[in-house]
Amino acid sequence: MGVIVQKFGGTSVADIDRIRNVARRVAGTYTRGDEVVVIVSAMSGVTDGLIGLAHKVNENPDKRELDALLATGEQTTASLLAMTLKSMNFPAQSLMGFQVEVRTDHCFGNARIQDIRVDRVRRLLQERTIVVVAGFQGCDDQGNITTLGRGGSDTSAVAIAAALKADACEIYTDVTGVFTADPNLVPKARKIDRICFEEMLEMASIGAKVLQIRSVEFAMKYNVPVHVRSSFSDEEGTMVVQEDNGMERVAVSAVTMNKNDARITLRKVPDTPGIAARIFTPVAEAGICVDMIIQNTRASGKTDLTFTVPKADYRTALAIGKKVAGEIGAEDVFGDDTIAKVSVTGVGMRSHPGVAARMFACLAREGINIMMISTSEIRISCLIEQKYAELAVQALHTEFGLDAQP
Ligand code: ASP
Ligand code: MG
Repeated sequence: MGVIVQKFGGTSVADIDRIRNVARRVAGTYTRGDEVVVIVSAMSGVTDGLIGLAHKVNENPDKRELDALLATGEQTTASLLAMTLKSMNFPAQSLMGFQVEVRTDHCFGNARIQDIRVDRVRRLLQERTIVVVAGFQGCDDQGNITTLGRGGSDTSAVAIAAALKADACEIYTDVTGVFTADPNLVPKARKIDRICFEEMLEMASIGAKVLQIRSVEFAMKYNVPVHVRSSFSDEEGTMVVQEDNGMERVAVSAVTMNKNDARITLRKVPDTPGIAARIFTPVAEAGICVDMIIQNTRASGKTDLTFTVPKADYRTALAIGKKVAGEIGAEDVFGDDTIAKVSVTGVGMRSHPGVAARMFACLAREGINIMMISTSEIRISCLIEQKYAELAVQALHTEFGLDAQP
């Protein structure tokens, strides 16, 4: 018997039937004798719908008011779930972020949790009440409602589990766990039983959407093991845990791909001190996050400089590139938003030499050209033409021995 935190995402609470399904699962855990804290997302589509409404009123809605509006999505689910549990004769109570209290900074729309006081949750648990918490929301020190960024109820769950020193943190979603590749792209993808925080963090940062990045950072910092599993089945999911020795047997744990980036090249840039700063300072000032950067040296004292930015910032970044190119005397600027980034991730590559060479050779065999390469200690990413993205993921999945055995 212990304290169990269970988080249910939007698709798991999409309608009243599914909320009933969640209530039955929660009730089952409670009946076994555990103390249960449930974190809920808004019903699927609700947050997007609310954002749409706000934009009808104002193209650039006030951030404080937008958070007050968005928080209603989770408020709705929390109270509906508590009501459902009560109608099944289970003691339950909903709590909003400010009631818990989840204290955040003032950054509306992307607030960071600073402190969680779980006294009220603890009192309710001691009375054997099921506590249903509205995820994704908190409040700042002035009592304003804040939200934690899209997908933020994952972070609410992990943070509350950490604050309660819970025995388990279960994230219920619409997939059965974390896979070696997107099963929609790779039919032979396998569910991963155990993955470590670092790998999950790398995967979340390159586009795997199972968990919000911040929730993984939180889990790693406070060592909260997270069980990612489906609310539609009883199958065991994926445990996201601290690295252990058993994980080093394979070089690569997963292959991922995203088409979220665009590439910008400045040709024949003068090769003198301060040029990169001239290019990237205005990009940073425009709030654009640069991902990959490469610079080649030419014998002529000129270099080519290429970098990638999120697709949403492509036009702005290209315009900045053109302006700076004029100022510094670069020959030419061009961009491309039909690219994809394929990545292989695994803590095993720390101890397996030659992973990069294998990746490049595999892409070469498929006739896929690599435009840019970037690496971390446990990830290698290649930028390729978008039309080859699916082929690349499938080929790499096979190359690194990840295909499920028939
Ligand atoms: N409802 C919020 C969103 O759609 C938070 C979440 O679901 O985690 O992003
Ligand atoms: Mg989510």
